Amino acid sequence: MAICSNCKSESRRVRSRWTDKGVQLADECPSCAPRTFEKFTTPSDKKIHMGFEAHPNEYEKRYDSDGVFYIRKPEYRAEQEEKLKQPCADDVEAQERAEANKRASRRTDPMTPAELEQAIAKARILAGAIEQSHAQAVKEAREAELQSWIQKASSQAAQA
Ligand SMILES: [Zn+2]
Repeated sequence: MAICSNCKSESRRVRSRWTDKGVQLADECPSCAPRTFEKFTTPSDKKIHMGFEAHPNEYEKRYDSDGVFYIRKPEYRAEQEEKLKQPCADDVEAQERAEANKRASRRTDPMTPAELEQAIAKARILAGAIEQSHAQAVKEAREAELQSWIQKASSQAAQA
């Protein structure tokens, strides 16, 4: 069993999710996101798509009392965790935009002490938020990897 980091329910079907850019999203499980555990069709082609159907090589097939289920392979998690260690593309873009904006709007007269204080306070808040969200993403990726190994070990023990 794994614990959903989103709703804290215990389930064999906790799903860890990442965006295309490797940023981790909240977990999903049948109790907090029942709809995503049902098959669905896209309006364009009416075909059924599940994660393991779209990306079969990233999943391992497992069996439990409810039948078959799929989990992401540990090596695929590791690859995604590696991506998390790189600066996020959004952060890099935001930084580039901020620098361009700064160059464009640069003024020549010095800041007043009050403005300077305000600017430093704002920068501290931004830096703290970026650091926190990155640390949280890395922590969640490690926990997901650990859960995956626990799941694997317990399923091997059950078969032995
Ligand atoms: Zn949940």
